Amino acid sequence: MSSHQVIIIGAGIAGAATAWSLKQAGVDDILIIEQEAHAGLHSSSRNAAILRTAIEQPALTQLAIESADFYRNATSSFSAQPLIDEVGLFITAEKDSSAQWMPSSPNSSVSEIRAHYPDFTDQDIDVWHFANEGTLDIHGLLQSFLQGQTVRNNCKVDELLFNNDIATGVRCGDEEIYAQQVVIANGGWANHLCSRTGLNQPFRPHRRHLMVSGPLTQIVHDLPVVWSTGSNEFYFRPESGGLLISACDHELVDPHYGENIDPKIIELFAKKTEYWLPGLSDIQPKHLWSGLRTFSPDNNFVVGPDPSINNLYWAAGLAGHGMTCAYAVGQMLSAWMCDKKCTHPSANDLLPQRLVDIPRLASI
Ligand SMILES: Cc1cc2nc3c(=O)[nH]c(=O)nc-3n(C[C@H](O)[C@H](O)[C@H](O)COP(=O)(O)OP(=O)(O)OC[C@H]3O[C@@H](n4cnc5c(N)ncnc54)[C@H](O)[C@@H]3O)c2cc1C
Repeated sequence: MSSHQVIIIGAGIAGAATAWSLKQAGVDDILIIEQEAHAGLHSSSRNAAILRTAIEQPALTQLAIESADFYRNATSSFSAQPLIDEVGLFITAEKDSSAQWMPSSPNSSVSEIRAHYPDFTDQDIDVWHFANEGTLDIHGLLQSFLQGQTVRNNCKVDELLFNNDIATGVRCGDEEIYAQQVVIANGGWANHLCSRTGLNQPFRPHRRHLMVSGPLTQIVHDLPVVWSTGSNEFYFRPESGGLLISACDHELVDPHYGENIDPKIIELFAKKTEYWLPGLSDIQPKHLWSGLRTFSPDNNFVVGPDPSINNLYWAAGLAGHGMTCAYAVGQMLSAWMCDKKCTHPSANDLLPQRLVDIPRLASI
């Protein structure tokens, strides 16, 4: 039996960023428990690595902006390499569509996108350009957050331990590990640890696929990211001499199947590529994979104290923006855990308390 100040369940970006912020706040006895052989094997290494601060949920935009500032200005002791490649990001939306959540009026045009990608559609759409955004070094970011931390790999938390309404630790197989505070940061599996907590399995794990094409002659590594929002959502960016593409599929799945490829996705890739990049409609995947984006019912993250169990905290439901927003998530949760309050303007929007009356999803 061992005992720690803090146990964090899950060594993805949510757990890693929380551990880092706690350490900055002076907490030095932290155990991160990870079921896999290495940290970050699931969503945190299977994503598109795009840094985008314009997000439909205003509370998350705030987190993204703060995190981007931190990554951009990170000291060499945090990361020896730059964490952001500011290749630029174009966001498009149908003309006069519902993209009112965009922070400003359109400031660019399809012809600017076509100057980089001649195969892009010539439709009349609204375009925004964010010159300082682009891609994130997701592996570097995870390792930077984890430096100096203790991660126990190959250790699955089977259940939380309680003393009445206080979380006291976790059980992993036959072993009980105790802690003064416990953080649930286990991504797509968050519903599995809800038993006896204040949340009734409110998380919705969704599968999304990504593909990387073979090398394409006109694609160089510093071309911008293009993200077309709306009913035909699609994004792409350069990767390994070709294009990384998402057809933005969004399917509710049992988390165990989140990384199983659906063969039908090839059709969707072809259909959307033909729509957005008509000149590249015969593009084929060289690599194809999928991962989990896990949502709360209102699509805001779930960050803060459990509504009914003392000493239990959530850093879950990071949806499709967890890499971008991780720094701010860690900062917020660290404030809740160390100061028992969080003055961040988005804190209330992310509180687990808002989900207490959400009925459990029967199928997941
Ligand atoms: C296709 C795709 C594209 C994306 N693109 C972007 C993007 O461009 N930009 C962006 O910002 N975000 C993006 N995201 C979202 C981002 O990847 C996620 O928000 C983020 O990785 C979630 O991190 P996490 O730590 O919550 O989950 P995870 O990385 O999945 O970590 C959870 C960890 O908990 C562990 N675990 C689970 N249960 C247990 C248990 N019982 N005991 C011990 N360990 C356990 C798991 O093994 C895992 O390592 C994308 C996601 C996908 C799937």
